[in-house]
Amino acid sequence: MKANSLVRFLILNLCALAIATSAAFAQTAVQTKLGRDPKVAIDEEYTKKIREYTTETFFNSPLTDYLPASSKVPTPKAVLGDVSGAPGILPYSHEVYRYMRMLESSSPRVKVYSIGKTEEGREMIAVAVSSEANIAKIEENRAKLAKLADPRTINLNDDEAEKIIADTVPVYYITGTIHSPETGSPTALMELAYRLAVDESPYVKQIRDNLITLITPVVEVDGRDRQVDVYKWHLANPEKNWPGLIYWGHYVAHDNNRDAMAMSLQLTRNVLNTFTNWRAQVLHDLHESVPYLYDNTVGDQPYNAWIDPILADEWHLIGWYNVGEMNKFGMPGVFTHGTFDTWSPSYLMFIAASHNGISRLYETFGNGGADTVERTLSPSEYSRTWYKQNPPLPKARWSQRNNNNYQQTGLLVSLAHFSTNGKYFLRNFYTKSKNSILKPKTAGPAAYVFPGDDPRPGGQAELLRLLQMQGCEVHRATAPFTVTLPAKKKPARPAPAETRAAGNGDGNGGQEKKETTTRTFPAGSYIVRMDQPYSRIADMMLDYQYWAPNDPQRNIYDDTAWTFGELGNVQVVRVVDVKALDAAMEKVNGEVKAVGGVNGSGSVYLINHNADNALVTLRYRFKAAQFDAAEEPFEAAGTKFNRGSFVIRGVNQNDLHRAAGELGLKVYATDAAPSVKTHPIRAARVAVMHTWLSTQDEGWWRLEFDKYKVPYDYISTQDVAKDANLRAKYDVIIFAPVGRGNPQQIVSGMPMFGNPLPWKTSELTPNIGKIDSTDDMRPGLGWDGLQNLQDFVRRGGLLITSNDTANFAVSFGLTPGVSIAPPQRLRVTGSVLRSKTIDAASPIMYGYNDNLAIFCANGPIFNLSNTVGGRGGRRPGGETPERMTGRGTPDDPDTPQNRPPAELPEPPKAEAWEATPLTAEQLRNGVFVIPPSARPRAVLRYADSRELLVSGLLEAGNEIAQHAAVIDAPYEQGHVVLFSNNPFWRGETQGSYFLVFNAILNFDQLNAGRKVAEK
Ligand SMILES: [Zn+2]
Repeated sequence: MKANSLVRFLILNLCALAIATSAAFAQTAVQTKLGRDPKVAIDEEYTKKIREYTTETFFNSPLTDYLPASSKVPTPKAVLGDVSGAPGILPYSHEVYRYMRMLESSSPRVKVYSIGKTEEGREMIAVAVSSEANIAKIEENRAKLAKLADPRTINLNDDEAEKIIADTVPVYYITGTIHSPETGSPTALMELAYRLAVDESPYVKQIRDNLITLITPVVEVDGRDRQVDVYKWHLANPEKNWPGLIYWGHYVAHDNNRDAMAMSLQLTRNVLNTFTNWRAQVLHDLHESVPYLYDNTVGDQPYNAWIDPILADEWHLIGWYNVGEMNKFGMPGVFTHGTFDTWSPSYLMFIAASHNGISRLYETFGNGGADTVERTLSPSEYSRTWYKQNPPLPKARWSQRNNNNYQQTGLLVSLAHFSTNGKYFLRNFYTKSKNSILKPKTAGPAAYVFPGDDPRPGGQAELLRLLQMQGCEVHRATAPFTVTLPAKKKPARPAPAETRAAGNGDGNGGQEKKETTTRTFPAGSYIVRMDQPYSRIADMMLDYQYWAPNDPQRNIYDDTAWTFGELGNVQVVRVVDVKALDAAMEKVNGEVKAVGGVNGSGSVYLINHNADNALVTLRYRFKAAQFDAAEEPFEAAGTKFNRGSFVIRGVNQNDLHRAAGELGLKVYATDAAPSVKTHPIRAARVAVMHTWLSTQDEGWWRLEFDKYKVPYDYISTQDVAKDANLRAKYDVIIFAPVGRGNPQQIVSGMPMFGNPLPWKTSELTPNIGKIDSTDDMRPGLGWDGLQNLQDFVRRGGLLITSNDTANFAVSFGLTPGVSIAPPQRLRVTGSVLRSKTIDAASPIMYGYNDNLAIFCANGPIFNLSNTVGGRGGRRPGGETPERMTGRGTPDDPDTPQNRPPAELPEPPKAEAWEATPLTAEQLRNGVFVIPPSARPRAVLRYADSRELLVSGLLEAGNEIAQHAAVIDAPYEQGHVVLFSNNPFWRGETQGSYFLVFNAILNFDQLNAGRKVAEK
């Protein structure tokens, strides 16, 4: 189907849908007319200000061009000193909360709930607004919603459900300002709460009587307070450029809206818990980056493949209705559909989509502060398209008040629509919950099984805990059980162990007739049953993703893959066979935990290295103890130990037992150390270095270092520029991806035109400058910094780089023999790729089996050479033998005439991950030849083309297939380690973390197990 005909098809379908559903609506309630009841008294002064700050009358609606008066309830002016959206006013979170609590104490229709803290200890709240009657029986209502949310409690009885629906009101959850530079929502939501509490117009009464509106006015509270600081600095320095918001949350910036699966951030957990505890039906998240209101509820293809189709229909219904009503108000620039694909479930709003609710998102138009300014749009923004019949104006004076008008009008239209049809949506909610429970019998799978003999029990427990956090129930088999699985495909999908391949993404839902095999799982295996209300989120996270290279969607919005079992290096088997559900099992009460502790007696302690992340925590917990790593596998205490296993001396057994129990690590006490060769692994002194350009991607690294309690100094490129002896302080410097760092920019920083950009704590800016600070964000690493970094490595330090910072290290000559080839047609859009171990003896690979899945987003294509400046590596398609025109077939040698044929020298051959062997010609005067011990050592590579894709999108994968993914490049006394993958990505790549932790722990022993070439 061509794009145009597809669009027509969708529109026709949509019309049919609208007719069908309006019939259904007629049974529930008649839509009340939107707008003010003339009898409602107006707050004249406030209303006047609204009109004054709205730059054109058509940037307002009949719903928000007035404010209802109240004798008891204070308006936002009580806190703001002016109306919501007034120029120059941006409240801190505590001011917003103060107002919400004023509403609570002055109106029985409002109740404020504390929903948790942020990383920096700031409070998050949710404000419930509804009728007095609904507020009074809020717990009763919640209990009824809980039954609809888990239809098992009513035996999936539809009649029973109908009775509950008749007597229950739904919950509509709105979240504001997760993205800190998108500043309008808090004031819009303050005023919205006021309107909902006091307006006696029929349509607002309708909302109040039939719905609980739940509002979190500030999601990213830490970032909000910093943004207000920056804005205040700007107001105090009106003629100057202001510092960009380099830190939003404590760890990450806009990626705080990519955390709905991994839930690494407090804000995600707090919103998820609120959504599921309230059994809300909608999560509506507010953003501000598109003029003037893009309701991306409808979104674009491809839709996430695991949602209930009912949800897709709800998106269409709600989205088109919403913009339809707003268009009737004559407000320009209101549209839905757009180009946002709805594939990744990582957005905050998707908490609803993955938990049987409805996800929604607005992009309105903000000025990043409260200035009123003229805004000029680009043609792509102001052009008319089929879904944008009344586009935004090419140029307009735009105010925060305009933004607040759009936000509130959209929300009021939505709330009116949703409350009018509350029974319809509650019925859908129940049906979606029921469908989730029926999954094993309908689409499948029946369950995901986590085998009881996974060599990484710590990683396994961690992933299961995450699913528990998502609201999933986890069971544990009390006896072995056997299920039927699809037979292996040919060739078998590469897998670390034979145990891995069988169900790995090959579960075909029983759609195809295929040969089958059986598999028995041991007692103690974990089972995530799909006959539970939140089966969908587990299925989304654990399944495989496939994004077709020829997908019509060309503006891919985000990652195309996230398969958690693969990225976590945890065995997960998708089981379609419903017999799995009959296995003897019990529900795990409390968190899943790996079992740990000390067994046996003796003063030497052995721990198998299985790349479980808790191992690094243990090393740093016993900083003073002697830890050694075995350079070869060995057997002791009747157990097999991998290469890299820990041999520990000098610890108190009780302390170790306690720590190992907490961390889920099995420790074997023995009397003597094994006879295998070992080297010390030290609690290395680590620095995490950031730029002042962006801290977005390094934040994900920092977060995991904190989580696993790896201590580090947090330093900037400017600190490095000032410190000529970094080696005295540090063993390892981590230079995580910058995200937007071309090598020159890392050195040069921001342009030095204009005024300094301070990032410092001051009276005016109390919330910034705490994570790190500088008088001026503009200078970069500089040439001194580069020199200092080089000296650090030269003197035995380890520099760890990834993606753009690997490119930085290569570009500035820190990695002789490594080069990066430009991609031609390669597309790896946040995908999961298969790797192969090249050098299992490298300490970086300790604890790993082969075939690790790694996360790649157009990572650099590394080539190796034995000479400085050599490009090295095999070029794609360069396998055809090169010969000149002459006699014979392409494989024949040419033959000069009138002399005997000469014997041709064998051309040097190398694999894509190797350097081409040196020729005698190159060795004759080897000025550029790298001595064998100084050559880069490739330890991990991308798999061969046909095995490369694990999940997501991969196009022209042959360009990166087989190329090195992880390289250990010696540099005088030290090393630079380069990652083409990103080992720390959004809390999703737990399986790759230990590549970095290994490098850290073995920073001065990276040459262990190395085979050095003779020449
Ligand atoms: Zn945003």
